Amino acid sequence: MILALAVLALMQNQWPPNSPDRPKPPVVTPAPEQPPVPPPSDAIVLFDGNSLADWQSADSAGKPAKWLVKDGYMEVAAGTGNIMTSREFGSVQLHIEWRAPLPAEGEGQDRGNSGVFLMSHYEIQVLDSYHNETYADGQASAIYGQTPPLVNASRPPGTWQTYDIVFHRPVFGPDSSVVQPARVTVFHNGILVHDNDVITGWTVHHAVARYRPHADRLPLLLQDHAHPVRYRNIWVRELTP
Ligand code: MG
Repeated sequence: MILALAVLALMQNQWPPNSPDRPKPPVVTPAPEQPPVPPPSDAIVLFDGNSLADWQSADSAGKPAKWLVKDGYMEVAAGTGNIMTSREFGSVQLHIEWRAPLPAEGEGQDRGNSGVFLMSHYEIQVLDSYHNETYADGQASAIYGQTPPLVNASRPPGTWQTYDIVFHRPVFGPDSSVVQPARVTVFHNGILVHDNDVITGWTVHHAVARYRPHADRLPLLLQDHAHPVRYRNIWVRELTP
């Protein structure tokens, strides 16, 4: 199984992590931004625009999240650190909306960078990828450092964007082996960008990802990359095995 996984990883990742030479996905213009999509009746609402009561500091668990809450959104307060949910999740359907800063400042990874970390370890990249080149596996909606999105479905900075994510958690054996890698399907602004793609391990920068075993449920985490990225309307539906 480990060998099969290694082969699968090689097939998926013929490019080294963060390679500037990897081809860029084609640009597809999505529909214009929409008002927030109301959650379905069985959703667990993680942020309704009013408070960070369901969130805490990721660096010091139990300490409050210190991001700004204003006018129905939360905004990264640079330097206050990543935040994570108090609840823990395994496989989920996740809806999350985000907005890159306007005016756009910086270039490449230094422009509207944040991240949605499923189970605290698997990043779907948040980045202002509207007319902003970076390595393909680091642009908006990439499985960071692993798999670029099928297309670049970015809206301009200053407009709200959506991720709709179906995430199946990894399954580890009693000997810590990977019985099933995590899988993810992602719609960016309603456009398919990952079609049941394998996640090859914990998100790392400029290194080949690998798995380390962890609990069946872990917090959802949002990244403080020192840019004032905003989030709103975050909800999940838990998927039973
Ligand atoms: Mg990021």
